[in-house]
This record gives sequence, structure tokens and C-alpha cells, in this order.
Amino acid sequence: MSAADSIQAILEVIRQVAGPSSNEQPIALHEPDFRGTEAWSYVKDCLDTGWVSSAGQWVSRFEKELASTTGAAHAVAVTNGTVALRLALHLVGVEAGDEVLLPPLSFVATANAVAHLGAVPHFVDVELTTLAMDPSVLAERLEQLAERHDGQLLNRQTGRRLAAVLPVHMFGHPANGMALRQVADAWGLPMVEDAAEALGSWRGDTHCGLFGAVGTLSFNGNKLITTGGGGALLTNDDELAKRARHLSTTAKLPHPWAFEHDAVGWNDRMPNLNAALGVAQLEDLERRLQAKRKLTERYGVAVAGLEGVELVPQPAGCSSNHWLVSLRFTRADPAEAERQRLQLLEAAHKVGLLIRPVWKLLHQLPMYAATPRSALPVATDQAQRLVNLPSSPQLLR
Ligand SMILES: *Cc1c(COP(=O)(O)O)cnc(C)c1O
Repeated sequence: MSAADSIQAILEVIRQVAGPSSNEQPIALHEPDFRGTEAWSYVKDCLDTGWVSSAGQWVSRFEKELASTTGAAHAVAVTNGTVALRLALHLVGVEAGDEVLLPPLSFVATANAVAHLGAVPHFVDVELTTLAMDPSVLAERLEQLAERHDGQLLNRQTGRRLAAVLPVHMFGHPANGMALRQVADAWGLPMVEDAAEALGSWRGDTHCGLFGAVGTLSFNGNKLITTGGGGALLTNDDELAKRARHLSTTAKLPHPWAFEHDAVGWNDRMPNLNAALGVAQLEDLERRLQAKRKLTERYGVAVAGLEGVELVPQPAGCSSNHWLVSLRFTRADPAEAERQRLQLLEAAHKVGLLIRPVWKLLHQLPMYAATPRSALPVATDQAQRLVNLPSSPQLLR
């Protein structure tokens, strides 16, 4: 088969699963869907009662249902996933001038949340099986440059304090949470998990976001469920949840009328309107997870006959939400894989099939060019090989 023919064959197989697309009727990567849910009546309740803003029954109901869905002791709903990360990092003690260890393979928001606190991202390579932070690289990196000094853990090369570990659950596949937690614990580092993409994803009987001190979710429009914009913190730590609620509501002390605030707080709470959408979406979660499993199976069967590509498989011992089904170009020569990948992206976009390359590695973005990092061979290699396929659950209707 010629190179051009093999790209056409891949495209054909994706369209068999995702359905016909055109420039007039493109198929997006992941689209919101409210059909068959109670979204209208729940939002109408907000409008009828006037409870549209950052207080109201839908926020607490959404939080309760999120907690029971994930097995978390507490869920705290906020305005988006980036804000959830920034608040979580602040709650575990990250301050300006600190370093936070995170993978270079993620959406830019993960590093931005670190930078929003005035802290510095420190990139650690990922592992092939999960595409998430590699526990053994993290351990080696800390072994190599962490130094205890006056009760603090310092990076002996930069002199900055190492303040937290921040793994990301990629495309809904659970990171190696237990192993990462063990390394973090050995150095007394708190762990915050970016589980923005991983609602409904489990490793063993632990939901993503609950391996460490606190995890964060996103309900942006392209995530598995959406509140328009929104996010949440998940934690089993009562005190941390209490502080999250306090700091996300301007650190106001409860009082019938007086304005007493005891810290520099934020206005981070999720509005009732968005939470109403969230409750309706959460009621549809199980159906979506099933649809995603079926969609992934179909892609798997379709791709099985092709040479030079494979689906990124669900890691062993995990139940993934399959947020974005990912295709990997497997040619040994990374330049060859990259060339095929670009050809597929171009051919797909010509026919309105909006597949996407994985994000540009974060240390290659101008604002993070001068950050500390481990060697990054796996992330660098994988970034040339991955595309995400259209993965909306409604593609199965
Ligand atoms: C979506 C996403 C975020 C950010 O969430 P927002 O709600 O868009 O702010 C953070 N990290 C990852 C990995 C994401 O996919």
C-alpha cells in the first residue's frame, strides 16, 4: 500500500465509526449534549426562584452527587478546572517562588495554575502505559536533586522549595496514582491530581483525584459532562474541604449581616445555574460511560486491521472513562510517524473530521521555556505520535 493509500485507509476507518462528516457538517472532537436530560427544568427552577448565582440548592446537590459518584468524602464546586487546580495547590501550601513537579504532556491549564500562584513548573517525564507522570522518573529526579534544609525540601540546583507533586490523568486513563503517592509521601510532598479529564475513571477501587491530598475536575464544554464552565475539588480531608469552601467564597465568616473576612479569599464558587446543568448531566453519566466504552470498542475493532497505528489502551487494572480515544502512530522512526500524523490531520480536516494532535509539550511553550525539567524522552516521542479521535458519546446514537 502506498503512503497516501494507508492514510486514506486510516481516515476511512475513523469515518466508519464516527459517521460521515463534511465541511458543512463537521464532526468535532467532543461536544456537549443535553438531550434526554432534565437540564431545562433544573435551569428553569433557578430562573423561577431567582437563585442563579453563587448560592442555592443546586450547588450543594451537585456537590453531594459528585461526592457519592466518586466516593469522595467531599466535593467543592468552583467556576472552572483551572481555578480548581489553583485553589487545590494553594490549599496544600504552594506559594510564590516554589516549584511544583508536573508532566510536560498536558493541557496548558495545568502549568498555568502553578504559575498563577507565582510558582514554577518543574517537568517530569511520563510513562508509556498511562501517558501520565512516571513514578520511577519522579523518584530518580527527587533522589538526584532534592535536599532537606531547615525542615524544607529544596531543589539543590535552583535553591527553590519543592512544594507539591501534580500528576495528570490523561484522556481519562488513570495515572499510576498509588506509586506516585508513595514517592511523594517518601519526601513529605503533598500530591494534587489534575483529574480534569477523568470523571468516572477508576484505578482499582479508587476514583481518579483521590490518590493524594486533593484532586480536581473540569466541566468545560468539551469534557465528559459539562456545566457550561465549571470545576470541582475532590478530597477525603475534612479540614481541606472546609478551607476550600471558605477561601472560594471570599473567606467570609458566617454572620447574618456583617462583612467579616479573615483571609485573602477568592470568588471561585460555581453559580447555581451551572450546578443545575451539572446535576442533569451527572444523571446521564452512567449512560455516557457505557457509550464511551462501546465507541472505544468500535474504534478498536476498526483500527485492528491497520498497519502502523494502534489505539492507546486502557491501563491494566483500570476502568477508564475513555474521554478522548487516542490513536498512536507506531512506526519505529519518530520522524516517519510524525509525517503520517500530519498527513492524517490534513486529510481529516479537509472532510470536516476534526481530529486533534495531542497538545504541544508545555516546556516548549514560550512562557515555560526556562523551567527546570528531567530528561523527557517518552513525552517527546509520544507527542509526535498521538492524535485524538472524535469521541462524543452521542456519536453512538
Ligand atoms: C480541561 C482541562 C483543564 C482545565 O479545565 P478548565 O475547566 O477548562 O479550566 C485542566 N487540565 C486538563 C488536563 C484539562 O484537560
